[in-house]
Amino acid sequence: MPPTIFSIALDVPLNRLFDYFSGGFVAQVGNRVVVPFAGRNLIGVIVAIGNQSEFPIEKLKPVSHVFDEVIVDSSSFKLLNFCADYYHYPLGQALISTLPLRLRQIKPAVSRKMFAYRLTANADISLASTKKVVMQRILTALQSKEEVTEAELALISATWRKAITDLKALNLVTAYEVIAVKASLPASATEPNLNDEQKKAIECVLALTHNFKPWLLYGVTGSGKTEVYIQILQHILSQKNAQGMGAQVLVLVPEINLTPQLEARFRSRLSQFPLVTLHSNLSEGERLQNWLAASSGAAKIVIGTRLSVFTPMPQLKMIVMDEEHDGSYKQQDGMRYHARDVAMMRAKQLNIPIILGSATPSLETWFNAKAVPDLTQKNGQKPQYGLLTMTKRAVENAALPEIYCIDIAKSPTENGLSPLLIKALQERINKGEQSLLFINRRGYAPVLHCNACQWVAPCTRCSARLVVHLSQKRLKCHHCGHEQKIPLQCPSCGNADMRPVGQATQRLEQTLQTLLPNARIARVDRDSMRNKNALTDLLTQVHNQEIDILVGTQMLAKGHDFPNLTLVGVIDTDSALYSPDFRASERLFAQLMQVAGRAGRADKAGQVLIQTAFPQHALFHALRAQDYASYADELLQERRVMQFPPTRFFALLRAEANDFSLVHQFLNQAVNLARGLKSEVMIYDPLRPQMERLKSMERAQVLLQANTRAALQRLLKVWMPQLRALPIATKVRWSLDIDPLEF
Ligand code: ADP
Ligand code: ZN
Ligand code: ZN
Repeated sequence: MPPTIFSIALDVPLNRLFDYFSGGFVAQVGNRVVVPFAGRNLIGVIVAIGNQSEFPIEKLKPVSHVFDEVIVDSSSFKLLNFCADYYHYPLGQALISTLPLRLRQIKPAVSRKMFAYRLTANADISLASTKKVVMQRILTALQSKEEVTEAELALISATWRKAITDLKALNLVTAYEVIAVKASLPASATEPNLNDEQKKAIECVLALTHNFKPWLLYGVTGSGKTEVYIQILQHILSQKNAQGMGAQVLVLVPEINLTPQLEARFRSRLSQFPLVTLHSNLSEGERLQNWLAASSGAAKIVIGTRLSVFTPMPQLKMIVMDEEHDGSYKQQDGMRYHARDVAMMRAKQLNIPIILGSATPSLETWFNAKAVPDLTQKNGQKPQYGLLTMTKRAVENAALPEIYCIDIAKSPTENGLSPLLIKALQERINKGEQSLLFINRRGYAPVLHCNACQWVAPCTRCSARLVVHLSQKRLKCHHCGHEQKIPLQCPSCGNADMRPVGQATQRLEQTLQTLLPNARIARVDRDSMRNKNALTDLLTQVHNQEIDILVGTQMLAKGHDFPNLTLVGVIDTDSALYSPDFRASERLFAQLMQVAGRAGRADKAGQVLIQTAFPQHALFHALRAQDYASYADELLQERRVMQFPPTRFFALLRAEANDFSLVHQFLNQAVNLARGLKSEVMIYDPLRPQMERLKSMERAQVLLQANTRAALQRLLKVWMPQLRALPIATKVRWSLDIDPLEF
């Protein structure tokens, strides 16, 4: 009989699988294994089992161990295979990198299981003439309720484990595995009466639940998108398959720790369905436990950030992606996937619906959802995505905020604040209402400047300036983490008159404290919110009206409801208006719309004041009219003329090294190879990015532009192996970014 051979995915940067003998182990596809590799032991996953190998059979080694669990199911393999292909990334690395850390370690995957205990069917309690107090107490508890959880047992006695073991031995109680569902909040009093737009959206989606169908839920902030998700998911989750297995749903969110309210709403409204979260703030133990609960089908709702798009879910019936335009869905190293595209492919492979929700959809999604006849190349074709529009705020009487620009030419700022904005802040304080000031820069000031010779403090490792952090008396690079003391004299001319120039959160906070001494001010940025619970605590303070003014970065922009907040001030966003990055205006619009959405959420009218030197800019016109749709159409038209995504397809080959000449050589050879291939893909000359140097590495990149994804992929399929074979490819750090977001 020929020997059994396992084809195994390993976390090594080689674009292939590795064959091993079974070594007498019985295994299935998807099992975790330990194998000897280059003198080490590595974790791998069995991708195929057969009797043949393309390698010389006498060179194969046996696996050292097989773990029981099947951790990758066939539909996950299918998705990972697609990703490895599309992103030109080794399957083994793709696969292993999507696993929780605990499963990447050479250990059995023991997650601490949680149990509840019940009396056995015909338990004769009198049998328990036991004198053991703890056992008695447990039995007493079980006479008044059906089951006790471990948490309840812990309240009965610290030695409950021993007592339970004895009770089980006496066949008086049995254990049931429960999945850890955090205590649900009290179900919220009543479901709101849906408005017509919400009803329509829900009806449309529920009419087509058994096939692949992408939807764009385009609804202004506060239009009740979350309510729509919840009611749709309620229906989906009530379905059971022929074996009685309940449906599962996946809810993707940009950054879960910034939106504790969303999780709380899902928990309270869908409290009958076990819910787990998956994100980087969990401990590794929790992450493994939640992941296993999802992959066993026990958890019905998974709320997670981008990586959770890969979580195996055997009964997945719908995917929801909230804030689909958010840049954090794109992975920026390793396999540079976009969770939106992966989610779309997953929905397609599983033949299930997917809802993308946003108040400011990405132009990619907009392009797919809108049938603008003179914009789409697919003239005459029906749009791919269903478009569901919600134009009004859901809460009665809650109007959209009024948006105004403050022309800083007419009302000049002092220390970053124009008199009009200060007056508006004062008025809110007088009325006992709250305000938010948005500035997207943390620290005290963006530069330290010498008044005599115009020197500004640079980072020695990056093409960037050091940011002043005055309270710590330090200069910091926000790109590489480099820190140094603030110099007392100009290193260039010796002048002692060095000044922080420009605005950032700390400085603004300080200015406000001087101008409005009675105001209670809180700052929200990555420096002030380092602690895990800091944001939640602060949100509570805001809700208890213990804060008058919030100063913060985009951390504040996401999904928080502040009912008493009626003013949003926006400081210093002009640089994004004329940025060389072609996505800057799309991003700025989304960001401003999102912060604007924080104002006037309850029955109080909100006002947004934007300080700008360019009040006539088209972006502000659209923003004031709260008309993203026409602005998006306009931007799309621009992209079309410029031949930019989403009307064209980009890939970016990035390279970096300490020595720029290596980068230069590598990219030139790469370009020559690509140009030698017969292809309609446009290959640009190597260019240096805006940040030429980062962390002491010299950088450059090559842009590829194609009319179709297919053409791009055809080229990459031939080109990538050629690149990997270049001798110089081992001397530079390089990577390929398909559909890049940053340039
Ligand atoms: P979005 O997700 O679009 O920003 P939410 O779902 O958070 O909007 O809804 C905004 C607010 O409106 C929430 O406080 C929510 O409870 C409330 N809400 C949603 N739908 C309704 C409705 N039909 N009637 C009254 N209030 C509603
Ligand atoms: Zn100087
Ligand atoms: Zn730096």
